[in-house]
Amino acid sequence: MMRAKRSLGQNFLVDRQTVARIIEAVSPEPTETIIEIGPGKGALTAPLVERAGRVIAIEFDRDLVPVLRARFGAHANFTLVEADALEVDVCQLVAPADKTRVVANLPYNISTAIIQHLLRQRRCITEMILMLQREVVWRMLAPPGSSERGYLSVLVEVFCTAEKLFDVAPGAFRPVPKVWSSVVRLRVRRESEVDSRAAETLLALASAGFMQRRKTMLNNLRQATGRIGARIEAAGGAAALLAAAGIDAQRRAESLALAEWRRLAQALDSSNYGSAQT
Ligand code: SAM
Repeated sequence: MMRAKRSLGQNFLVDRQTVARIIEAVSPEPTETIIEIGPGKGALTAPLVERAGRVIAIEFDRDLVPVLRARFGAHANFTLVEADALEVDVCQLVAPADKTRVVANLPYNISTAIIQHLLRQRRCITEMILMLQREVVWRMLAPPGSSERGYLSVLVEVFCTAEKLFDVAPGAFRPVPKVWSSVVRLRVRRESEVDSRAAETLLALASAGFMQRRKTMLNNLRQATGRIGARIEAAGGAAALLAAAGIDAQRRAESLALAEWRRLAQALDSSNYGSAQT
């Protein structure tokens, strides 16, 4: 029997009830294309292939390829892509469809990177149903003022509405992981709802603002480097920017609500624009 690879976050789902609950949450349609990231041995792939119009599975582990081909190769609606999901162009992959949903029991070590990668391709993704380490979901859903709130919370809030569906105990997997998991539904906001340029500024500010969690916004923004650092300087510096946005300089990033991040981004965009420094 093949050994699970810890480096690839391989904890395979073996509990049928959990599989059924995830599939019920996905509720695949016969007309749609679903992308599955990390199909593993196919626990979720099997019901997806039965019910969805088309399933495109992206698996990085070459040793799993023969297992998946043997199991699903005969299904005309199944495509296996042997690749690193972090490098795949999802929109290109789903063509001629222009919209897809993503289902994944994600390797924990790369879950934030994959979510970031997928959100960059949000123009063709309407929804993601993801199983993640429970703590990652806590961080994702953490409200302003919570010590769990971080860049991931702001990132997800900018582009999605998120809903935690249920927790999954370690015993549902083999090998049994040390941590609990949670299944979350991320509905990607429509393109018309998000101003991409403002979102880019906002996320660069959030990334700088959360750089050192114990520091104030003032100190973190003062120490921002690279392009965002230059932009803050061009806007008169961190103190002036925070004042322009009506945000107390002594606050910490975790206390800021999305509306305040938006105000900050707007203040920076309009100041940079005003001084032709964009
Ligand atoms: N979906 C299966 C299940 O529920 O039993 C497997 C889940 S397991 C937690 C994660 C899967 O993602 C493994 O099959 C692993 O090989 C795959 N994987 C890890 N890193 C990957 C990457 N960068 N791109 C695509 N697949 C990856």
